[in-house]
Amino acid sequence: MNRPSDSGETLPKEQAVSNISSALRFRELAQENNKLFRESIPLIASENLMSPLAMEMLLSDFGFRYAEGLPGHRYYQGNQIVDQMEEFVVELGKKLFNARQIDPRPISGTVANMGTIYGLTSPGDTITTPALAGGGHISAAEFGAVGFRGLRRVELPFDPETMSVKPSEAASVIRKERPKVVLVGQSVFLFPAPLNEISEAAREVGAPVWYDGAHVLGLIAGRQFQDPLREGADLITGSTHKTFPGPQHGIAVGNAPEDTWKKIQRGMFPGVLSNHHLNTMAALGVTLAEELEFGERYARDIIRNSRALGEELHNLGFRVLGEKLGFTRSHTLALDVRPQGGGKLVAETLERCGIILNKNMLPDDDSRKSQNPSGIRIGSQEVTRLGMGPSEMKEIASLINRAVAKHESPEEIRNEVFELKKRFREVKYCFGRLEAYRYFRIMEE
Ligand SMILES: *Cc1c(COP(=O)(O)O)cnc(C)c1O
Repeated sequence: MNRPSDSGETLPKEQAVSNISSALRFRELAQENNKLFRESIPLIASENLMSPLAMEMLLSDFGFRYAEGLPGHRYYQGNQIVDQMEEFVVELGKKLFNARQIDPRPISGTVANMGTIYGLTSPGDTITTPALAGGGHISAAEFGAVGFRGLRRVELPFDPETMSVKPSEAASVIRKERPKVVLVGQSVFLFPAPLNEISEAAREVGAPVWYDGAHVLGLIAGRQFQDPLREGADLITGSTHKTFPGPQHGIAVGNAPEDTWKKIQRGMFPGVLSNHHLNTMAALGVTLAEELEFGERYARDIIRNSRALGEELHNLGFRVLGEKLGFTRSHTLALDVRPQGGGKLVAETLERCGIILNKNMLPDDDSRKSQNPSGIRIGSQEVTRLGMGPSEMKEIASLINRAVAKHESPEEIRNEVFELKKRFREVKYCFGRLEAYRYFRIMEE
């Protein structure tokens, strides 16, 4: 690496050289990571790729500014364009989700959850949540955001075969416990939640129904999973980078009474936010517009693919949860891979083959088994975004089977993964066409 002529003048030569190589090391690591994912089959259920137009927003000046509060009520000067941008994001969000209220400020799904908890509860209040063993997220745990607020937490009963909340049992728990808030929605979210039964019970005890749609937000946007606001939920929170194919950011979507919504918004700011990351918010705006155009078809294709993959894995002899209901209604599959050596071994073997997914706890797992659980989780949303369809799902199922059931050589499988992936490198369901990772041109030179 050449030493730039205009830097390091007061430093010893070796030190200047080593500092610039340290800086450039990050560029190398980014390039290596791009290559790793360009050449792999990405099946992590919480990840996705952004569109080129949305990517552009991440590099804009929005990413260097502060805008605390709400449009028109700021604490800093220089926000006139930011205000227009944020108001437009809200407008597009209302349209896409058919909602009265949008708060696009949370900088992640967890932050949206923290703000909601902060706004709607006080220490010592009771909250009912999905069970952790039933796919509940850490932000709904005692050791996560719910515990951070000092809430008393009661889990809703669920069916271990489908990992879905049981409607009448959950309603009884809500009637008995009289929680301040009712939370539904999981990280392993295979089937729609029984919102009608839950919200009826919640209304009786005066508790708002809060739907954590982090995983399924894109499916809801595409009208393919369930319509929480029409099924009794007052609020949806979500991540905007899982099935919703946008930036790593969060959102709150509401049809809540005005005073409830005010509390939620005050929970966000000044509760858990100061600045709210304006470049990712602008990227969220781009993605909302793209979802209005392509979201329905994208969500339908995601679900078609996960069901096809589930069916094929089942035919090859894998134990896929939810068999009697067609394995899934979302992007996610949960597999019990104890016969293949357990979640840890299977996930690590597949990683060596270029197939990237994660090990996952299943309902019967002891919580001490979190480093070697029984299951794996698979998501179809990213491969769908790259244009793969049911016939590629068959190929993927076969590669998985050969790797972890037939123990074929990882190098051989890796080559086939590479060949398959070569045909699917362009991000679809968005405006503009560009090969994934090409927007890093500055780094490729
Ligand atoms: C992923 C997830 C979140 C929050 O995720 P972030 O990584 O903070 O965006 C919240 N709830 C559920 C159910 C999730 O799966």
